[in-house]
Amino acid sequence: MTDSCCGIVIDIVFLGTGGSIPTAGRNHPSIVVRHSGWNLMLDCGEDTQRQFEFAGLGQNKKMSIMISHMHGDHVLGLGGLLLRFSLLGRIKPLEIYGPPELIPYVKMNQATINLGTTFKTTVYGINSGILFDADNLQVRAFEVDHRGLAFGFELTYQRPTGEFNPKEARKLGVPKGPLWGKLADGKSVKLSNGKEIRPEDVTGPKPKPLKIVYSGDTRPCDSLRKTAEGATVLISEAMYTSEHLDLAEERGHMTAASAAEIAKSSGVKLLVLTHYSPRYENGEEILDEARAVFPDAILATDLMRIRLNATGESTVFHQDLQT
Ligand SMILES: [Zn+2]
Ligand SMILES: [Zn+2]
Repeated sequence: MTDSCCGIVIDIVFLGTGGSIPTAGRNHPSIVVRHSGWNLMLDCGEDTQRQFEFAGLGQNKKMSIMISHMHGDHVLGLGGLLLRFSLLGRIKPLEIYGPPELIPYVKMNQATINLGTTFKTTVYGINSGILFDADNLQVRAFEVDHRGLAFGFELTYQRPTGEFNPKEARKLGVPKGPLWGKLADGKSVKLSNGKEIRPEDVTGPKPKPLKIVYSGDTRPCDSLRKTAEGATVLISEAMYTSEHLDLAEERGHMTAASAAEIAKSSGVKLLVLTHYSPRYENGEEILDEARAVFPDAILATDLMRIRLNATGESTVFHQDLQT
């Protein structure tokens, strides 16, 4: 059965939150969005494989990887992750999406797996548009303004039905059991007397879709602003504070204030700041600057998780590696 009305439907795991150079406490960028047995990875910086293990994400899950652009801090971990999956005997196929240069890059990395890969890997050179659509979740790439071809990603989850109404189901003669699960999953069922019951007969109105937007690396730009409209969660890079606005413009990044201004003007529910420069090790300055503009901002830290329920409420957890 799908989630109940307020069950957790999406888990966002931050494997790495450091921009450009990893530090003692922060890995290169990588995020995994977990839903319906899928691990959807957004970027794969150096040493993502260890973080993946620490987070206990499971090497043989259904999985796709989306790479925002070909800068090393977003892609250097792919070779290690593919090697790890092969050594651990992954079987399920893996799809990787990103700029066209990713195709020879993955091939070169595969050549370093000396015992050969144990699973099928398919790499797609992408344009803006839908990349992935399964289990009520869709991923769309949109072009952003960085240095060279770079994308952000929009993930939209639409629950197949509204809340299941057991009273109504009983009234229509549907016995409690697997048929209830099918109806709640948006499938019609046939009763033993031949009568067909449709999901809309026993469920309420569909809730608003959940939307998670990941900026990748970018200057403030209209495509991000537009895509972020009404987002449940905007995960935005925030490389610098405004003190280094000139560096942000020159290197194709955002300040914390710019990220917060986009969150505010786009009506975002929660802003998560990530990919901040190693010069801000604990990120306090980044968070303070963003909160002055948009109070519903939090700072991503390595192995932090955000759990979303079907109505878009979020709960934040920090993983303690000692336990
Ligand atoms: Zn970067
Ligand atoms: Zn970059």
